[in-house]
Amino acid sequence: MSLAECNYGLALENFIMKMVRNTDNDIAVMADAMKNICELLKISRVDIEHYKNISDAEHQNGDITVAYDNGNADLQRNAAFSALIGDGAIAGYRAYQQKGDEDWDEKYTQRAHAFLNTIHVFCDRARLMKVADHLAFHDKELETYNIAHFVKTVNDAISQNSIGKYNACYFNIKDFSDVNNMLGRTKATDIMKKYVSQLSEILTEGEAVCRMGGDNFTVIFFKENLEKIKNYLASADVEYGDEGRVVSIRSSAGFYIIPDDCPDVAQVMDCINAAKNVARSNMNISCVFYNDEVMQRDVERRKYEQLFKSAIKNEEFQVYYQPKVSLKKYKVSGAEALCRWFHDGELIPPIKFIPVFERNKAICTLDFYMLEHVCRDIRKWIDDGREVVKVSVNLSRCNLGEPELVERIIATVDKYNIPHEYIEIELTETTTDVAYSELKKVVFGLQASGISTAVDDFGIGYSSLNLISDLPWNVLKIDKKFLEVNQPSTSHNYLMLKHIISLAQSFGIECVVEGVETVEHVKVLKENNCYMAQGFYFDKPLPRESFEERLMLNV
Ligand code: C2E
Ligand code: MG
Ligand code: MG
Repeated sequence: MSLAECNYGLALENFIMKMVRNTDNDIAVMADAMKNICELLKISRVDIEHYKNISDAEHQNGDITVAYDNGNADLQRNAAFSALIGDGAIAGYRAYQQKGDEDWDEKYTQRAHAFLNTIHVFCDRARLMKVADHLAFHDKELETYNIAHFVKTVNDAISQNSIGKYNACYFNIKDFSDVNNMLGRTKATDIMKKYVSQLSEILTEGEAVCRMGGDNFTVIFFKENLEKIKNYLASADVEYGDEGRVVSIRSSAGFYIIPDDCPDVAQVMDCINAAKNVARSNMNISCVFYNDEVMQRDVERRKYEQLFKSAIKNEEFQVYYQPKVSLKKYKVSGAEALCRWFHDGELIPPIKFIPVFERNKAICTLDFYMLEHVCRDIRKWIDDGREVVKVSVNLSRCNLGEPELVERIIATVDKYNIPHEYIEIELTETTTDVAYSELKKVVFGLQASGISTAVDDFGIGYSSLNLISDLPWNVLKIDKKFLEVNQPSTSHNYLMLKHIISLAQSFGIECVVEGVETVEHVKVLKENNCYMAQGFYFDKPLPRESFEERLMLNV
């Protein structure tokens, strides 16, 4: 006789069908199905109890306990059941005879067993579905939501016409690789976890922070919470370790103010991604809101990234030389090598491509390409018996992690047999401790080899006075921001300029001021005892041939 041919079989089949359709694991549906089958099977009760409460002593006299409630072997299954009832407790269940019930014969007992086994199967299914659900929508490492949750939340909101209530953001933690290097991966992951959980605490029900992978996250949140989230991402302190040490974490974030008629999640992803990319490519900005210009810049970014390899191969990058002029003799005393990109008859300025290549690290290749071309030019000048001045080459701080960076610079210079005093390396200040110790290594290393070093753009960003007192720099390049046009001689800018120059000189560091555009600027520099200037007042960056002609007039 098949199962379906008897009442019991039918009941079981019904139960199974109900459970199969009960994909939401609705407890009410489950309870209803259980009640139904209990009646047919003449099982008096099926109980869900907390496992810890089930003991032999509690069983009533005459009970036949057929459930798997009598030992830890089934803990796994019972835990599954607790997952199903959702109270977080370990639960078991049992079918047992109540006083006054007819005695169960062998057949009933077997049926009860079969019934309870069936329940087990469904409990396991429910547990697995929960696990699968958890895995599908959560990030295992950080115990936070993942991209699937973000997509689902956005899709649900679009289908419920409520997407306009939300904004979205995509953020990347700045310099997280430094935290990794400094504290090790385990501690760094804990810090990331804490950073994200602190952010989650700001969020309310219906909002979520979701990990995309690595140190990239998205947030879907209600419009009214924009400021709070923006502020948190701009800078937040995270405590770590037993001594309550604090690390300050900043993120680059791209925001999208989602319109009511946003058609799909792809639009949200594209916009936050584009805005985040723009935020990431500017070290001094932490937050960018999506607009058409942002999208345009993101398209450009991808184009530049794709073109890079062939541009290097085809030598599309050219060295321009901007003279540094001595204000004592009005002679060119040095030059800065600046990169220009000629592509398809168009000149792409560094402001457009340098941030892109800093982001994808292609800048390391470009910087060495520049150094190599500068060395090649100097070699030629020496061989042609021309006058040679010291040329400074910009080295992005992205190079700082590279092992044997100093050796590589020296090897490049030596390959062309260039006397070291003709080369200077310009570096900008760093923002993290790890990068600072790398910077220190490089400056000391170059110093020892006789290659000069310059701090570039001093005075913007996070300039610290330690930077100039700790390291043996040869030159301080003071940023052009101190030289505004038409500012009174009593302005704060000039006052700061004066003190920076005098401080640097007292450390024995030479000062070069960038952005000298007017005769008034020249006057200010001289008044402050600074005799090296670089700027449009004297020369723009010049192509090699023009620079060579300029040097020939250098008398
Ligand atoms: P930087 O190293 O501070 O270079 C000085 C920038 O100021 C140059 O911009 C130069 O053209 C500009 N400048 C010079 N005199 C004046 C002036 O009188 N007024 C004004 N307003 N600007 C002046 P450029 O060539 O557009 O380069 C921009 C930045 O791009 C550079 O700033 C540097 O950070 C970066 N860069 C350029 N070439 C390279 C390179 O080969 N490698 C790396 N890593 N960065 C580079
Ligand atoms: Mg420079
Ligand atoms: Mg500069």
